[in-house]
Amino acid sequence: MEQVKTRRTRDQGMIDAGQIKDPKALERMLGELESLHRRINSLEDTELEVMERLETAQTDLDRRSAEFAAIEGEEHELRSVVEQKAGALQSEIASVRAERASTAEGMPEDLMALYEKLRGQKHGVGAAALRRRECGGCRITLNASDLGIIAKSPTDEVIRCEECNRILVRVGESGL
Ligand SMILES: [Zn+2]
Repeated sequence: MEQVKTRRTRDQGMIDAGQIKDPKALERMLGELESLHRRINSLEDTELEVMERLETAQTDLDRRSAEFAAIEGEEHELRSVVEQKAGALQSEIASVRAERASTAEGMPEDLMALYEKLRGQKHGVGAAALRRRECGGCRITLNASDLGIIAKSPTDEVIRCEECNRILVRVGESGL
């Protein structure tokens, strides 16, 4: 821009000094210079706009990058929590399996077979406690005559729930 101004001043000076013989050619040249000047101005405006947009985009990018980093950190944390919990559950499962195996050891084979069969049919629960006259499997309250029969049965006899067919286990609070 500076250069154009200088040249223009110089050209104007040349006209004033009467050094250029063809005033029309000079007029044209000055017109062209004027339009170039305008073009440069408009390009400079555009450049400013583009730079502003770039700056806005950069700010946006920085903000989003920071957000992304925060989310990544959070994800990392959650993953390690999940791994920890999964590990704890695995060892709990292992100890429950071991407990189950040692409990099943002393059981008569036919009773175990019945229990496993019922477990398969009854959503994983083959036996239920008879507590306060209620079957823990289907929640039905047993009537007095059934309770009377159960009360008279030998303790080693396998009792079944009339309603859900599960093995009923007599406990201290059975209500017999
Ligand atoms: Zn039942």
